[in-house]
Amino acid sequence: MSDYDVIVIGSGAGGGTLVRHLAPSGKRILLLERGDWLPREPQNWQARDVFVENRYVSDDTWYDERGTAFQPQVHYCVGGATKLYGAALYRLRKEDFGELRHHDGISPAWPIGYEDMEPYYTAAEQLYQVHGARGEDPTEPPASAPYPFPAVSHEPRIQQLSDDLAGAGHQPFHAPCGVMLAEDDMPHSACVRCATCDGFPCLVHAKSDAEVLGVRPALEHPNVTLVTNAEAVGLETDDAGTTVTGVVVDRDGVTETYRADIVVVSCGAANSAKLLLASATDAHPNGLANGSDMVGRNYMFHNSQAVLALSKEPNPTVFQKTLGLNDFYFGTDEIDYPLGNIQMVGKSSAEMYRGEKPLQTRFAPEWTLRDVAGHAVDFWLSTEDLPRLENRVSLHRDGRVTLAYTSTNDEPKKQLFHELKGLLGHLGMHRDHLMPRHAYLRNEIPVAGCAHQAGTCRFGRDPATSVLNPDCRAHEVDNLYVVDTSFFPSIGAVNPALTAMANAVRVGDHLLERLDARPRPEAAHVA
Ligand SMILES: Cc1cc2nc3c(=O)[nH]c(=O)nc-3n(C[C@H](O)[C@H](O)[C@H](O)COP(=O)(O)OP(=O)(O)OC[C@H]3O[C@@H](n4cnc5c(N)ncnc54)[C@H](O)[C@@H]3O)c2cc1C
Ligand code: SF4
Repeated sequence: MSDYDVIVIGSGAGGGTLVRHLAPSGKRILLLERGDWLPREPQNWQARDVFVENRYVSDDTWYDERGTAFQPQVHYCVGGATKLYGAALYRLRKEDFGELRHHDGISPAWPIGYEDMEPYYTAAEQLYQVHGARGEDPTEPPASAPYPFPAVSHEPRIQQLSDDLAGAGHQPFHAPCGVMLAEDDMPHSACVRCATCDGFPCLVHAKSDAEVLGVRPALEHPNVTLVTNAEAVGLETDDAGTTVTGVVVDRDGVTETYRADIVVVSCGAANSAKLLLASATDAHPNGLANGSDMVGRNYMFHNSQAVLALSKEPNPTVFQKTLGLNDFYFGTDEIDYPLGNIQMVGKSSAEMYRGEKPLQTRFAPEWTLRDVAGHAVDFWLSTEDLPRLENRVSLHRDGRVTLAYTSTNDEPKKQLFHELKGLLGHLGMHRDHLMPRHAYLRNEIPVAGCAHQAGTCRFGRDPATSVLNPDCRAHEVDNLYVVDTSFFPSIGAVNPALTAMANAVRVGDHLLERLDARPRPEAAHVA
């Protein structure tokens, strides 16, 4: 008999959510996490520590396809990337589950439809306490329940932006936010609505992240064990290669092996591919579950751009990430291919400019940067990047990640920028002062900025072209599952975390049935 019923490797959006969902079953669950608890400390909310000193970024090294080393912007801690995320918790659009024709090619269909995922989106929105308003966003997919909490209100400058957009004939909406904010009862609100949310850990644990709402509640169940500082370095299989028999872990330099009936990998898209590729055997010479040669391929991370518009009026907004605009998601009257999503991003500050472009800002006086920040209105533009076989994770000769990536859909990305620029005159902003933050910040999100990484172990019905079946079980290994963003066959143009969370609940239901643990939970059937 194995030591555990289920081992989950990685405690982020996928793994943390899955463990929370499985915990009440009473099954013996082991959660292995490479990092430690993210410390709660004043530095959590200091822009200099977070953006200049990169205090919470891992010191891991990856390589690009030319073999040049770089430090990926990854976070190894309990809760994974959700500890630092902006908690914009969007559903993919219904159309994203089907095949979509883009400027640079086809975004492939998923093996399940939106209606299959819908109950789990509802469950994930409840689990992660999402605040939002249905019916404002014309591209919003149908939902079987309202958001569990009311939308986070706009501050005056963003309300003005919303009114101006509506006045110009657009349909801005309140962005779905995972913050535990009670605006009608601020004395008892966990969230204090601060300026240090997007990209920062939440000092007061009021962000709906996978540590606070996934791992911690799961650990209240005595059948759940967490081991931190435990990096899975290999998966052992039986001779036939059809069953994982052991998870080999490097725990502070000591090698240990853990065993379970079911093993779930959820290390983030790049690291999950790395683990499978590093687990090659005679039965799986190209890496575990890689008979299709698809493990590591089809890496996506959004063709994103952070842009900064200079408002004629000062912008004193504190919590800026309350507005979204999907009017160009599927194109425009003149453009018949998708452009993507526009949303606000956390309010920029002088410290962030220095952190993101240290050389360019080295000689800039503090007041100039502060002046820019005081008038900046910050947007985040996401265009879907398409899965490409050549965009892939492979193993460097030292065993670390090599990441080869060439962008796709650059033309729609440019068009989206121009659509926003064309709006500025109506929005109280200087039309010629929409900067791709290249005066101060990166003008593109480089390959190291892998926040939205996805797609290295895609799910599908055909074992020749996918790694996982529609239940997210490896086609070739009976007890191996993957539940992080690796399973995405396409990424859409909205933020990925809610989809990873919803899918983890979906796979969790499947595992509960497989373990004969209990019937499908009520939360998955909210009417
Ligand atoms: C700054 C920032 C802002 C973001 N903002 C948003 C947003 O607003 N909305 C949104 O939807 N998404 C956002 N994202 C993206 C979102 O956080 C990710 O899509 C999501 O967390 C991915 O979930 P995951 O389970 O795939 O991986 P992760 O959440 O990264 O979890 C992977 C976990 O596996 C662990 N691990 C890795 N390798 C091993 C190993 N070998 N052994 C054991 N453990 C291992 C890691 O330490 C980590 O805890 C943001 C990300 C960042 C960094
Ligand atoms: S805005 Fe709320 S959830 Fe975000 S960091 Fe501040 S207190 Fe935490």
